[in-house]
Amino acid sequence: MSRDEHPLDEAGPDTLAIRAGVSRTHEGEHAEPIFTTSSFVFDSAEDAAARFSGESQGNVYSRYTNPTVRGFEQRIAALEGAEQAVGTASGMSAILSTCMALLKSGDHVVCSRDVFGTTTGLFSNYLSRFGVEVSFVPLAQVDAWRDAVRDNTRMFFLETPSNPLCEVADLAALRTLADDADCLLVVDNCFCTPALQLPLSLGADIVIHSATKYLDGQGRCVGGAVVGRHELMDQVVTFLRTCGPTMSAFNAWVFMKGLETLRLRMEAHSRSALDVAKWLSQQANVERVHYAGLESHPGHALARQQQRAFGGVLSFEVVGGQEQAWRCINATRLVSLTANLGDAKTTIVHPATTTHGRLSQAQRDDIGIRHSLIRVAVGLEDVDDIKRDLQLGLTAIGS
Ligand SMILES: *Cc1c(COP(=O)(O)O)cnc(C)c1O
Repeated sequence: MSRDEHPLDEAGPDTLAIRAGVSRTHEGEHAEPIFTTSSFVFDSAEDAAARFSGESQGNVYSRYTNPTVRGFEQRIAALEGAEQAVGTASGMSAILSTCMALLKSGDHVVCSRDVFGTTTGLFSNYLSRFGVEVSFVPLAQVDAWRDAVRDNTRMFFLETPSNPLCEVADLAALRTLADDADCLLVVDNCFCTPALQLPLSLGADIVIHSATKYLDGQGRCVGGAVVGRHELMDQVVTFLRTCGPTMSAFNAWVFMKGLETLRLRMEAHSRSALDVAKWLSQQANVERVHYAGLESHPGHALARQQQRAFGGVLSFEVVGGQEQAWRCINATRLVSLTANLGDAKTTIVHPATTTHGRLSQAQRDDIGIRHSLIRVAVGLEDVDDIKRDLQLGLTAIGS
């Protein structure tokens, strides 16, 4: 056995994050190479024919397979405890590919109303045009999911914890409902990542990632992944190879290196976010803090069961409304005013006028996104510096 063929069967997650998906070339490079090639050469016309027919294994074209992308796929699959993963061009194309591969005209989807805004748009504005019906329900209300099920329901789709209010889905209960309805349970694991939550082990059929967020961890590239068992993944992979929203080799390399430090980063994000959430709860001009790590949060007990920690995203309501929230945001100096999250840099945003700005007022009221709400994705800076900066914002509210 060559040194490179060490089995990782019994390896722990920290080892998998660093060692899974490594396949060295004859050059003996230590770090993973980036295969920036659109196509691959064949040994002979016979070999070309065999690879095209699938009779022999091997790369043909980077829309189908690319060794760097495969390395990322093997690593994220290992971390999620999955049979297979496939890289995609973005988180949205991961969701699109899953739906295109596994749904058909006449099917019905029950989707959490608390999902990423663009996900809502995909279901409402595009899949609806192709005959897929969707009902939106409150994430944490199991009865609402049960009531929404129809004979043609084929998929439950959700994120847990939710953005920006950190509501938590009861995955075991939804698994039972999905079994009764004979439908797929699809979980967008963007906020927790496999470092904090393993949805497949909690009953999910498919896990979705926006690799753009914590998998990268430094806000450099856009990408995504779909993860699950072979039977479902084969269909998703066929869609991707046919329709083309595949991951680039360079981005795959960035995400692969990101995965190596994912657990350390997620623990640090979670530690700092809990610290900031507790601190915010005691500050003047703060009316309410939403973070599942706080015992006062309605999803706290469930989050404790399902997650190893509570993640890096929290939100809080200031006294007053939009004017006060904007004043607070504008007075900060260190944190970045940007919609992205999952970055080493702390980010701050006003959901009602940005990430959730396209929703109607009624929809926002329904979800509970008030104009006084501010979302913070706590980064990896010194936590005292983050607090000092937020303090500048809170002080400005009263001025
Ligand atoms: C950002 C995000 C997406 C979309 O991912 P992109 O990489 O931006 O396409 C999907 N789900 C969640 C929870 C996200 O935060």
